[in-house]
Amino acid sequence: MAASTGTLYIVSAPSGAGKTSLVKALLDAQPQVRVSVSHTTRPMRPGEVDGVNYHFVSREEFLERHTHNEFLEHAEVFGNLYGTSQRWVEQTLDEGYDLILEIDWQGAQQVRRLMPQAKSIFILPPTQEALRQRLTNRGQDSDEVIDKRMREAVSEMAHYVEYDYLVINDDFAHALIDLQAIFRANQLLQAAQQQRFSALLQELLA
Ligand code: 5GP
Repeated sequence: MAASTGTLYIVSAPSGAGKTSLVKALLDAQPQVRVSVSHTTRPMRPGEVDGVNYHFVSREEFLERHTHNEFLEHAEVFGNLYGTSQRWVEQTLDEGYDLILEIDWQGAQQVRRLMPQAKSIFILPPTQEALRQRLTNRGQDSDEVIDKRMREAVSEMAHYVEYDYLVINDDFAHALIDLQAIFRANQLLQAAQQQRFSALLQELLA
């Protein structure tokens, strides 16, 4: 085990709130932060890469891994199974990296129970209209499909009260600054700084 273990972050948002783009921008600027690659039974979307966006597996393989207790948390979202590898999470934190889990509210509840020290962040769109617009821009979906996604988004957003931090993604650059501030503030906590600067603290107090 490394001298200091990383912090676990949970990031949730309704689809269309810009979560994945914000997390990607955060990772580009913070080399000590990693993001977990989940297992899912969802079919791959165009442009996605196996092992990068997700580990795409069959339902049989997912259930087998679940039987072997490989998942720290798992949930069924929109008819597909998603799960986070427990071993990978433990290893990455032990190596001292901060780690982001991009998971839904059900998974967040499970992780909070198991790891109450995890920090959770909920990303919200600025208005319902903006969310609808973002969902509409994604493809050629019918109004019915968009209405269904909106209802799902509203029920996901109802869980915001369970989270430590709220970030409103009105302006991307501002939302990124907010997200970075959360990570920075946690890195500056006394306990974390004490480990990072143990030599300096010894010298100052000599
Ligand atoms: P998508 O399939 O659009 O990438 O993700 C759909 C939903 O599943 C999102 O809310 C996303 O956060 C959630 N999700 C992705 N990976 C996991 C996971 O490992 N566990 C849980 N509980 N939710 C996940």
